[in-house]
Amino acid sequence: MAIILRDGAVLTVDQADTMLPAADIRVDGNRIAEISAAGSLGGPTDIIIDCRDTVIMPGLINVHTHACTGLGRGLTDDVLRSHWSEAYAIPGQDWFSAEDYVLSARASCAEFLLNGVTCIADRYSFMDRIAPEIDASGLRAVVGQTLSDARAPADWRTADAVLERWGTDPEDRVSAGLAPHALDTASDDLLRACAKRAEQSGSRVFVHVAQSEPEIVQLKSRGHAGALACLIATGLANPRTVAAHCIYLSDQEIADWPRHGIAVAHCPASNLKIEARTLPIHRLLGRVPIGLGTDWALTDNAMDLLWEARLATLVGKMLADDPTVLPVNTMLRMLMIDGARVLGLDTITGSIAVGKRADLIVLDLNQLPANPRHNLASNVIYAMSVRSVRDVMVDGELLVRDGRLTRLDERELAQQIARRWC
Ligand SMILES: [Zn+2]
Repeated sequence: MAIILRDGAVLTVDQADTMLPAADIRVDGNRIAEISAAGSLGGPTDIIIDCRDTVIMPGLINVHTHACTGLGRGLTDDVLRSHWSEAYAIPGQDWFSAEDYVLSARASCAEFLLNGVTCIADRYSFMDRIAPEIDASGLRAVVGQTLSDARAPADWRTADAVLERWGTDPEDRVSAGLAPHALDTASDDLLRACAKRAEQSGSRVFVHVAQSEPEIVQLKSRGHAGALACLIATGLANPRTVAAHCIYLSDQEIADWPRHGIAVAHCPASNLKIEARTLPIHRLLGRVPIGLGTDWALTDNAMDLLWEARLATLVGKMLADDPTVLPVNTMLRMLMIDGARVLGLDTITGSIAVGKRADLIVLDLNQLPANPRHNLASNVIYAMSVRSVRDVMVDGELLVRDGRLTRLDERELAQQIARRWC
């Protein structure tokens, strides 16, 4: 028994950015089995999903998340830069229990799915408790336990347990990576140990890079010329590393960056809220993989990757002083196939092609922001919102159908959270 998505417009996000005005997609098990003319697929035993007046796209890939921090939403807005760089901590975090973080992760995964996200790269503490929640939501994910000098021995025990439990095979829906917190909260020795472990295990390394001026000052006091020099010295300047933020790179570092192939997790909303600046991504575009991330809920309260893409292109144009940069199809690719490339999952997900995993979203075009339909990709980036997300499928399983979660209950989660933190 297959699932047939029948008669939808399809943005494939393939190499040629092919758009099919009307097509059927057969999903067999966890894979896309066939793409054919509208109305041509489906037998008596198949489940047919009517996709007229919809656009079918690859699911969105959120390359930098901290799902369990949803509990911090609204706790800290509009504060000085120093508030963050002194301690990247959730205000009052001593009051939150591990169970609170678990509930928060469950709710964030639900929210990601409702917002059309099918894959996340998530890291924080308690990852041995959080990863099973992410897995239970049905999302695709790469997970990592945060490592820092302050808690290195305990963190390593959890990091190793997470690596052991989830492995590093990209074919698995949930797999593990290494996640040193940041260049200033992890010593050179710790960063080197992560680079070595990543090489041995074949995993990716997720690390916050050049987030603040004090971080750069601290790196210089350790003898590094800057963030890139630190990555080079510790063995992390390679395509296995995913560097989040990168907002205090010098012009020279940006010029040298592509030589090392380090992927970038661009999180403009979080950057702007913490530091009132962000990375001019047009300078790295097409030279290293760049994906988009919503970071944590304290500084990107919305967990809305579609909105993040709109922000990224508009702010990117301002930083480039050029309205032609970061065009529509580039932003679509950043949301999908380029995000998958950042995570090493581009042969698995991120575009619509026969043989790839069925990580698909269906957007309702019977809404005013989707019309007129001169250019669907343009409508998606510049006009539509997550309100349009109708169906979400990961690995061939419908996790959102007609705007409602199938594994989780949005209303119940919202009430649980409201009651817990009222
Ligand atoms: Zn982060």
